Amino acid sequence: MSTSFDVIVIGAGPAGLTAATGAARAGLKVLCLDKLAPGGALINLAELHEVASADGGHADGPQIASQLTDEATEAGVELGFGEVVKLTGPGADVGPWTVETAEGEQHTGRAVVIATGLSKGTLGLAEEAEYDGRGLSHCASCDGPLYAGRPVVVAGTEGWAPREAAELQVVAGDVTMIGKPAASLPDGVHHLDGRIVALEGSDGLQFVVVETSCARKSIPASAVFVYVGQSPAAEFLPETLARDATGNIVVDEGGRTSAATVFAAGDVRAGARHYLADAIADGRRAGQAIVTALKTN
Ligand SMILES: Cc1cc2nc3c(=O)[nH]c(=O)nc-3n(C[C@H](O)[C@H](O)[C@H](O)COP(=O)(O)OP(=O)(O)OC[C@H]3O[C@@H](n4cnc5c(N)ncnc54)[C@H](O)[C@@H]3O)c2cc1C
Repeated sequence: MSTSFDVIVIGAGPAGLTAATGAARAGLKVLCLDKLAPGGALINLAELHEVASADGGHADGPQIASQLTDEATEAGVELGFGEVVKLTGPGADVGPWTVETAEGEQHTGRAVVIATGLSKGTLGLAEEAEYDGRGLSHCASCDGPLYAGRPVVVAGTEGWAPREAAELQVVAGDVTMIGKPAASLPDGVHHLDGRIVALEGSDGLQFVVVETSCARKSIPASAVFVYVGQSPAAEFLPETLARDATGNIVVDEGGRTSAATVFAAGDVRAGARHYLADAIADGRRAGQAIVTALKTN
């Protein structure tokens, strides 16, 4: 199957859905593709911080995801399922663009928005796959309750890790954060300045092995929640597209990349702060910039 669109948005998280809605409201034919259900990281965030909610409490991620999805479909965005594995143009940095999915579909677009966010974190250990779903998690609100009253470890002390640790502390027996000392860690949570070097356990996770500057310690843990080692989810991009040193996509103030008709928005772009409000603002900017770019072409 092959289909043509004005705009193809890759990633239906908050940045992608917002960009798609903006472009569709201006009358452009828009496809928004995701390898999972629409909503991105919001789907797993029952309690959002730094986001205003109508009742003054914590905003609800799935609820915002469903609002953004409804707005996109009402604007006429076609929501599609597919994992994008390749993006190519007829020449270096020139559209129209062909988007290929792992499911064997091809779509063409005059312009493309990359809004694929960040990959899940990794500890970089060979045994990680063995414990995935058997003690290794990336989501405190989804999996935390499975470890009620049991010791858990949080890998990472930066970004959203302290918030996730605070959420885990309400349900888990004992929470230890592993990583560099950070300015503010939740009260009552233990901290160890070191690096996780092994996971151990014969029937699910039982111990996390940590190397500090002076020792190697085995910490009893029924689960490890990983918030380190994330990278931009953009392996499918042409090598010519400009990236920063850590692989984030470099954009101008309108979200345009080094290719004139490819835009990037949200956590995947260089300099992103990784907040929901920023992802939505990025999506809005990219949507507007695309409309201008396609109307002048
Ligand atoms: C644990 C955690 C807690 C957080 N807590 C908060 C908070 O309390 N408050 C706050 O403001 N922010 C919070 N954030 C940050 C916020 O969720 C992100 O900044 C925001 O979701 C980024 O939106 P995005 O659209 O750029 O990416 P994402 O939400 O990550 O969406 C990217 C989408 O792209 C899809 N995708 C990826 N690769 C492909 C591909 N090859 N093909 C097709 N689809 C693909 C993914 O499936 C996903 O749906 C948190 C983030 C995390 C991880």
